[in-house]
Amino acid sequence: MDKLKKYKHIFFDLDHTLWDYEKNSAEVLNELVVKHQLIEMGIPSAEAFSRTFEKINVGLWSDFNKNKISRKAIREQRFLKILASYQIENPDLCNRLSDEYLMQCPTKSHVFPFTFEVLDYLKEKYHLHILTNGFDDVQYIKLEKSKLAPYFKTVVTSDGAGYKKPMASIFKFAIDKAEARKEESVMIGDNLQTDIMGARNFGMDHIYFNPGKLSHSASVTHEINCLSDLQKIL
Ligand SMILES: [Mg+2]
Repeated sequence: MDKLKKYKHIFFDLDHTLWDYEKNSAEVLNELVVKHQLIEMGIPSAEAFSRTFEKINVGLWSDFNKNKISRKAIREQRFLKILASYQIENPDLCNRLSDEYLMQCPTKSHVFPFTFEVLDYLKEKYHLHILTNGFDDVQYIKLEKSKLAPYFKTVVTSDGAGYKKPMASIFKFAIDKAEARKEESVMIGDNLQTDIMGARNFGMDHIYFNPGKLSHSASVTHEINCLSDLQKIL
């Protein structure tokens, strides 16, 4: 495979790209199922609870990315909706689950396969940056606990920037903060809407990280299924 044109700056998305959201989240949900005896209340299994969380969480985040709901709404509604889907109505329990989930999840440190190998390789050749739609109070903890923080020269969250991907404003904000130019930069992320379309509309090259090999019709600068593929093209 040919190397891509010479970049100087690489912008990584964080959740579902480097930090393994599903795995970390499932671990916390499993702990919550045990601690709060949710099986006894009618949740079929920790795996089912985790799958329901995933489905509801993706929907809420999609609405958040489209500016339809607030961060507060994600946090307040997530467990209410999950427990409601099992016909459990218990607002106090929902609040406790929500607080404990938010407290525990960012402390988990599972990352995608080859994350450190690839970052060790890339850091010698490029300036690395994080560009994430997320909240300061959790994203920085994730970066520290997973030992990813030292690799990145700048970190931009939608929370701190005041804009979200796919808006061009947050890409401009990140480029300026990195003292980069978009012509010498590339965005790597797992979300076709926020990371890929966002970068494309801003005029920045992009690499779609598609570990699940999902079929799609988007035109992308490049696509990878494993982070280790980056060593072949960068
Ligand atoms: Mg992502």
